Amino acid sequence: MRTLIKTSLMSFVLASPLAMASSELTDRVEQLYEEQLDDLFLWFHQNPELSMMEFKTSKRLASELEALGYEVSTGIATTGVVAIMRNGEGPLVMMRADMDGLPVKEKSGLPYASTATQVDWEGNNVSTMHACGHDVHITSLVGTARIMAERKSDWSGTLMLIGQPAEERISGAKAMRDAGIWETFGTPDYALAFHVTSTVPTGMIVADPAPYSGADTVDIIIKGVGAHGASPHRGVDPVLLGSQIVLGLQTVVSRNLSPRRPGVITVGSFHSGTKHNIISDEARLQLTVRSESKADRALLLDGIKRVAENMGRVAGLSGDMLPEVIVSEESVPPTLNNADLLAQLREVWSDALGEQVFFEEERLGMGAEDFPFFTVDPNIRSVYFAVGGTPKADFEREAAGGEPVPSHHSPLFKITPKPSVTLGVEATVVALMDLLQE
Ligand SMILES: [Zn+2]
Repeated sequence: MRTLIKTSLMSFVLASPLAMASSELTDRVEQLYEEQLDDLFLWFHQNPELSMMEFKTSKRLASELEALGYEVSTGIATTGVVAIMRNGEGPLVMMRADMDGLPVKEKSGLPYASTATQVDWEGNNVSTMHACGHDVHITSLVGTARIMAERKSDWSGTLMLIGQPAEERISGAKAMRDAGIWETFGTPDYALAFHVTSTVPTGMIVADPAPYSGADTVDIIIKGVGAHGASPHRGVDPVLLGSQIVLGLQTVVSRNLSPRRPGVITVGSFHSGTKHNIISDEARLQLTVRSESKADRALLLDGIKRVAENMGRVAGLSGDMLPEVIVSEESVPPTLNNADLLAQLREVWSDALGEQVFFEEERLGMGAEDFPFFTVDPNIRSVYFAVGGTPKADFEREAAGGEPVPSHHSPLFKITPKPSVTLGVEATVVALMDLLQE
C-alpha cells in the first residue's frame, strides 16, 4: 500500500502540469531569444543612453510593448514607460526594468561592443556603455511581456511593466513615483525586479532577504581660521581638523554599531586649501553612509554629527563655528525582500527551475538600488532577485590565476546575454504566473 502510494505520487510529480509547463516554457523562451530577443539585446547594447536621457531606448521599449497589445504610456518623469495588460479579476503586479547606461567607453573586446556617444548633462560628448547590464533587464522585460501576452489564459489580474530611467543616479524610481504613477495606473499588490550580475554564474539566481543597503549622502563643512602656514598658532587648521574627523568617523562603525550589524561610513571627497604655505579657512568632506535598518541609520547619522561637532570643540572652535553636518534629503532606503513573498517565490522557482538554480552568495559589499522608492511608501510586498551573467568557466579561469571577471561599471564589463536574458524571462514569468491568479 505504502509503495503503491509512493509510486503513484512519484508519477504524479513527474507528470505534474507545472513540471511540463516549465520545460515547455524553457523551450519557448529559447525560441523567442533566437526569433527576437537576440537582435533586441544587440540593439539596446549598441545604443546605451545616459540617465534621464534614455530617449531612443524608451521609444524602442514602448513600441515593442505596444506591438504586444499592452496599453503603453511614455514620457513619465522624462523617459519612463508604463505598460499595462488587463486580464480579468486578480491582483495588480508590477515588474520593473531600469534602462540607463553609463558614461564609460566600452573596452570589452566583444564584436558587438558599443561605440555610441552622447552629449552628457554638462554638454560634453561622452562615450556610453551598458556597463551595468541594464540592457539585459529591458530585453528580458520584452521577453516576459511577450510570454505573458501569449499565455493570457494561464493568468488573471493586471500586469504592469515599468521601464525606469536613471537607476544609476538613484533618481528614476522616485521621479516616477513623484509623477503619480500609482495614482494614475493603480498601486500594485506586488512588485518585482531583478539585476543581472557578473559575480554570479549563468543559469543561477540569487534570492536573499536583503539584496541592497540603504544609502545616505552627507556633507560636512568645516570652518577654520586662516593663517600663514608658518604661524599655525594664529589659526585653526581645517585640514588637520578634517583629518581628525575622518579618523573619528571610523570609530562610529567599529565602536558604536553592533558588530553583527552592517554599516559603512566612507569619506569619498576631502577638499581644502589653495597653496603650500596657507592654512585654509574651510574644508569640505563628502560622505556616503550605508545601513540596513532605520535604527542603524539613525545611529550612524547621529554618530557623524557627534564626532564632527565635538572634534570642532577639541580644536577650540566656538559654538557658532562648529562643523556643520548636512544630511541630504535624497536618502535611499534599503532594498529588503518581503519574507513571506520571498519564501513563496523561492518555492515556485525551485519547483520550476530546480533547487540547484539558487546561488547562495554571501553579500560582502553594501551597494544600493533605487527600487525601494517603489515599495516603501506605501509598503508593497516585493522581491528583488539577481540573475547570473558570467559563464562558470570564467570564474574557474580567474581562480586559476587567469584574467579576472570584470566588475560592473568597468569598461571591460561583459555578461553573456543569452543565458542571462532567458533565465531573467523564465524566473520572472514563473513568479508572475504564481502571483497573477484570481
Ligand atoms: Zn545597475
